[in-house]
Amino acid sequence: MTDTAERNPLDKRRPTQVVAPGIYQLGLQGNSFIVETEQGLLVVDTGPSPDLVPDALADLRQHTDAPIRWIVYSHGHMGYNYGVPGFLADAERRGDPRPTIIAHENVVRRYRRYAETGGLQAHLNSMQFRRAKAAFPAVPPQTFPDQTYAESLTLGTTGRVVQLLWAPSETDDVTAVWLPQERILYGSAAVIESIPNIGTPLRTLRDPVRWADTLDRFAALDPAVVVPEWGKPRREKVGEMLTETARALRWLRAEVVARLNKGMAVGEILHDLDYPAELFDEPWMAETYGHRDFVVRDIVRAETGWWDFNPTNLHPSHPDVAAAAVAGAIADQAAVLAPRAARRGGGAAGAARDRPARAGARGRAGDRRGPRAEGGVVRAAREAGVELRVAEPVPGLVHGWSRRRECFGSLWRPKTLTNVAPSTGAVATRPPASPPATGVPRVVDPAARGL
Ligand SMILES: [Zn+2]
Repeated sequence: MTDTAERNPLDKRRPTQVVAPGIYQLGLQGNSFIVETEQGLLVVDTGPSPDLVPDALADLRQHTDAPIRWIVYSHGHMGYNYGVPGFLADAERRGDPRPTIIAHENVVRRYRRYAETGGLQAHLNSMQFRRAKAAFPAVPPQTFPDQTYAESLTLGTTGRVVQLLWAPSETDDVTAVWLPQERILYGSAAVIESIPNIGTPLRTLRDPVRWADTLDRFAALDPAVVVPEWGKPRREKVGEMLTETARALRWLRAEVVARLNKGMAVGEILHDLDYPAELFDEPWMAETYGHRDFVVRDIVRAETGWWDFNPTNLHPSHPDVAAAAVAGAIADQAAVLAPRAARRGGGAAGAARDRPARAGARGRAGDRRGPRAEGGVVRAAREAGVELRVAEPVPGLVHGWSRRRECFGSLWRPKTLTNVAPSTGAVATRPPASPPATGVPRVVDPAARGL
């Protein structure tokens, strides 16, 4: 489907929207938020690429010709501010003073961490955004802020008052913008009109209580309008959306902790929770970006260690060894595996047959295959006489930039499940020739007994 290309914010800018006189949202990565003041424009977020900046500024200049006084980072996820050089170049070209770049002080620490882990971030981004890893530079172009703050910062000495508020939520470096005279709140990464994306499979811990505290602080401001990170300004049920989202997060925390106290493991907790409709069946809790199960996982992750209570995983075998052992341990292969001849006819099954050789060769949007199987696993399986193929996407779930995008961007399972090697995702199918006698498990490698 074309949904990925059409909605991927890396590809396309959305038109400028007027929130109120002198207040705009500029469709870049999320809602870039623009406020006119007597000192010039405040711009929150400059977008995912300098390439989008000329068009965005031309659109903005239809509404105001004021110089840009401040550029503020909504948070430290870098794609929101890759457009900074474009904005600085535009100011220079116009003969305006260089805008001052402001961020919460934790952005600096985050930027340093991203520079240190550039290769990892590129790998994770390639899965989340369904682009080749090369599309995400291992050394990210970063523009560090000129000025930071800790709790809040008031801009605008005369006329319109603009307050930057620390709003820890998705990250620990989020800046919200409060306009007290207009009672307009730019919720930044704390307000996403979806169940908060806590417990992402790819990212570091996010604290639901910290997020709930921020939403309750927002509600105490009694805003008339909230501009979310994405989508239209909310002008109705503003307080309800904020407080009820916070209440749902606190409910999750309390219920998960109660079960942890009983000694329940995460798998048991996931299937034991009974989510109250009055909290979870609301539009602002839609699972379009986050998922309630994943919130549960982060609460467990924050209170326990990494072990899943499975003794096999405490000191695991090398993935190559584990994969070969699983493949070799299929006793009744005739009952489990489809005959090879049936897969020679082409179509999806025939395509699957060819996948190992091409796995990972492409990564562009629209490519519906999963992440590449580990080369070592493929090699070990070949040596064991077992064919591996890369898992297919889960039927019925949409990947990439459509629904549940970050949540499911990295989840894959076999089209026809045969057996899955632990921690590899590789799938053992029928051996290419002469299957062994059924009913006798084959131990491929003596070391595999430690599986
Ligand atoms: Zn973010």
